[in-house]
Order: sequence, then C-alpha cells, then structure tokens
Amino acid sequence: MKQEIKKKQIAILGSTGSIGTQALQVIAEHPDRFEARVLTANSRWQLLAEQARQFKPAAVVIANEAHYEALREALQDLPIAVYAGSEALCQVVESSEVDMVLTAMVGFAGLPPTIAAIRARKPIALANKETMVVAGELINSLCREYEVPILPVDSEHSAIFQSLVGEVSPIEKIILTASGGPFRTFTREQLETVTPAMALKHPNWDMGAKITIDSASMMNKGFEVIEAKWLFGVEPDRIQVVVHPQSVVHSAVQFADGAVKAQLGVPDMRVPIQLAFSFPERLQSSFDRLDWFTMHDLTFEAPDTERFRCLALAYEALDRGGNAPCIVNAANEIVNRAFLEGRCRFLQMADVIAETLDRASFIKQPTYEDYLHSDQEARRLAASLL
Ligand code: NDP
Ligand code: MG
Repeated sequence: MKQEIKKKQIAILGSTGSIGTQALQVIAEHPDRFEARVLTANSRWQLLAEQARQFKPAAVVIANEAHYEALREALQDLPIAVYAGSEALCQVVESSEVDMVLTAMVGFAGLPPTIAAIRARKPIALANKETMVVAGELINSLCREYEVPILPVDSEHSAIFQSLVGEVSPIEKIILTASGGPFRTFTREQLETVTPAMALKHPNWDMGAKITIDSASMMNKGFEVIEAKWLFGVEPDRIQVVVHPQSVVHSAVQFADGAVKAQLGVPDMRVPIQLAFSFPERLQSSFDRLDWFTMHDLTFEAPDTERFRCLALAYEALDRGGNAPCIVNAANEIVNRAFLEGRCRFLQMADVIAETLDRASFIKQPTYEDYLHSDQEARRLAASLL
C-alpha cells in the first residue's frame, strides 16, 4: 500500500504580502504536501478573506483590530476562526496543528510572534530578516534551548544554506551578493534628488515597498550581513558583499582550500520559499529555468559604502554589538516610511540613522524587554530628527 505523506501544516504570518502570496502559490502547486493552516495580515482584510476562501485555513488573524468585524462577516459562512490583534498572532502559531511558521511580516513586528513560535517548538521558515537584525543572539539561544531549526527564505541566505549542505569544515568566507538596486550607477549628486517612485522600481525583484526602499539604500544588504552573521555564525570580516547586478548567483561560500560553492538560479522567491518548506527534499516546480546561452554577462563589483552609507552603518552596528542593530533597525523603519511619504530625502535616511545610533542608550547585553524598549526609544529619536 502506498504510504500517504502527512501534509505539512503551515502558518503564514503576513500572507497578503509579496512573500506571503508567493508562499501560497507554492502551497497551491503542492496540495498533496502542504496546507495553509493559519493566514494573517495587518490591514488588507479583503485579500485575507479571499485567501481564506481559497485555502481554507483553520484560523486567520487581522493584526489591525479595526478590520475585525469586516473580516469576520466576510468569512461567516466558513468554519474558519477569526482573530484580531498582535497578541493573537503569537497565539495562533502555538497551535499544536501547526508544523512550520513562515515569518513573512515586515519589520520589528515580526519579533514577538517568531519568539512565540520558537517557544512552541515550531520550525521557522524565516523571511522576516528584521527579527535576526534586532535580536539574532536571543533568537539563536532560544532556538538552541527549544531545538528549533531556522530555514532561511531570504534568497542569499538560502543560497548560503544550500552551499553548506554536506560540509563539515568551517567557512572561510561568505560571498553575499547584492543587485546594487536601482541606483547602483548613480552619483552622489544624482542620489540627492531621487524620488520614492524611482526607488520603488527594483531591477530584478518585485517585493514589498519597505524592502524595496531598503534595497535602494543598500540597508537591505547591511541587514543581510547581520542576518548571515547570526544564521551561519560567521564574523562580519568574513562576510564580503559583492555587487552582482544580474542576481543570478544568489550568494556563495568559500572554504579553507579556496573552493567556492554557490547557488544559482532565476531570481524567483518561490524557489527558496519552497525549499524552506520541503527541506531536505527538493520538489518539482514549474518555475523558469536558467537559460545559459542568454546569460551573457555575469558581472561582479565592489560596493561603494560612501554613496551607500547605510551598508557601512550596518557593519558599524555589528561592531558596536548589543542593542546597536536594534537601534539601526528602528531608525531605519522610521526613515524608510518617511522617505516613502516624501518627508525625508534619500541621503538623509543614513544621516538620521547615524545620529540615532549615536544618541540612543546603548545596552551591551540586552534582554527581550530591552529590545522592546530600545525599539521605541530609537523610533522616537529618529522621528524627532526628521
Ligand atoms: P510586504 O509589505 O509585501 O508584506 C508584509 C506582510 O506583513 C503583509 O501581509 C502585511 O499585511 C503584514 N504586516 C505588515 N505589518 C504588519 C504588522 N505590524 N503586524 C502584522 N502584520 C503586518 O513585505 P514582503 O513580503 O516584501 O516582506 C516580508 C518580509 O520578508 C520582510 O521582512 C522582508 O525583509 C523579507 N523578505 C522579502 C523578500 C521579497 O522578495 N519580498 C525577499 C527577502 C526577504 P497587509 O497586507 O495587511 O499590510
Ligand atoms: Mg535578500
């Protein structure tokens, strides 16, 4: 008799976003393997209701409580539990039915439910890099305590993770590739006047607004250096950012003998999402394949941290340690939003972050409460500097 594989029950935090919707496409491609158990959103309740109708999760959560009634009404004919508020996000991931939690929310808000999921011993498919930026050390110690694996979804970290499969020797160097974003070739003068609309046009990836702006400023790459440090236990001086505008080499690892292993592919986030769901197996996919004879130029260049100061600020935060990355993340969330809303110039973002980092209270060994506190303090400071 053919053995039925139990379907993996997945909770998607942030199912209405760029990663969340692509995760649902992966689930739809493999109905025999995966089921969406929990779906959540912040305020886009109509889309959440549509997703719930299609995927029939056991529960949905709308973080913004103002939309609770509307969502409940939209789903009243279905046997789906409807919850609201950020507390509920932490509770739904703890359900004994959930086998894996995909953290696809944006920003610091991802930290509390990620911690709740780890404490409930749920394997984490990690897209929400801000969690590792803010509290990588704490997350690692919780993962050790509760024996919880983290499967990286960020394309670079998935590539590094894949390059490490089967290796027992230490990493000599991580080569973290970066597209360079839409302003890679801009002069400082040109960067003075770039607009949100220009920043939102990323050359290779279609992502949520926040990470797209972070990619334009290269803060995203800075965050990925911090994420790599905590995920792979490698110090920052062994993490080299390499600008690779074509986004085909998703990142690489160099070993003691000089050998370099990389993972390549078409830029498509569904590949790392699917792998995080299915690891150690690889499942069939209908996604595009690389076409070796149309890829004429794969180029590599050094990043310019003078024009893209945010990248340098992330290294500085790592160097200072403690709550410094938490401060940088909070200040960045404030300036990112302000830039999108036309209240902050592009180059001013790094100025405000640097100033916030200098002024906010430094804590060498922060606790979880310290992170909550630092986050609030840095947000207030950054907002006052705008
Ligand atoms: P989006 O902005 O597209 O989606 C964010 C999701 O989180 C939405 O479902 C949104 O709900 C929800 N959300 C936002 N704020 C809150 C909140 N305060 N409480 C609860 N839910 C909230 O983001 P992305 O999908 O682009 O990114 C998600 C995460 O993945 C980020 O951390 C990003 O850095 C990371 N990532 C993304 C990549 C990409 O290709 N997009 C690549 C690598 C990493 P609503 O729709 O209602 O607003
Ligand atoms: Mg990335």
